Amino acid sequence: MEVLIVEDDDAMASALAAGVATAGHAASRVARGADALLSHRNFRLILLDLGLPDMDGLEVLRKLRQVTDVPILVLTARDDERSVVLGLRSGADDYLVKPVKLVELLARIEAVTRRAGRSSGVPQHTIVLDDLDIDLDRRVASKAGAPLPLTATEFELLALLARHAGSVVTREQILDALWGDAFLASSRSLDVHLTGLRAKLQKPGFIINVRGVGYRVEAAAP
Ligand code: CA
Repeated sequence: MEVLIVEDDDAMASALAAGVATAGHAASRVARGADALLSHRNFRLILLDLGLPDMDGLEVLRKLRQVTDVPILVLTARDDERSVVLGLRSGADDYLVKPVKLVELLARIEAVTRRAGRSSGVPQHTIVLDDLDIDLDRRVASKAGAPLPLTATEFELLALLARHAGSVVTREQILDALWGDAFLASSRSLDVHLTGLRAKLQKPGFIINVRGVGYRVEAAAP
């Protein structure tokens, strides 16, 4: 399993990486919160220090939670209850107080990944919504049996919205899923792709703007 260690203290990060490796996991290290936000998609688990040089770890945590369900274990030198509670409330799966004991680290990693594995469903191959048929393996979408001439980005956008049909997908989630960067990218290009997708779908009212939040597709009951 690929583990991302977000920790600016070099000695601590080395120790954590070595500890994670003893359990057979591959560890990568970054020292800044911004780097964690850019690289999180390549990892199955994140160990996140709360005291980071460029931004507060809790802020990193909240931003990650807007875009990913990956298990996040918070590492804190602040063993006060408040930071622990704030961490868990902000979406951490669990926390570890420094200095971290190896046995405890590995036990927590195992526990959160087991929980995450249970909650993830069977991967879907095709999504059917109204007269749309979205083939996630072949990356082709059809309307009433006729393939739609979507660009790769338009297809990704449609597939993402369709996977969450009935729920709002935030602009941050879309930017993160399509460009791997929810926080630095301009969102103007998203509007361009969305306009293209809507024009090709020819389904007025299918992709609904949720003002100030994002978008939702609403499928009619079959
Ligand atoms: Ca630190």
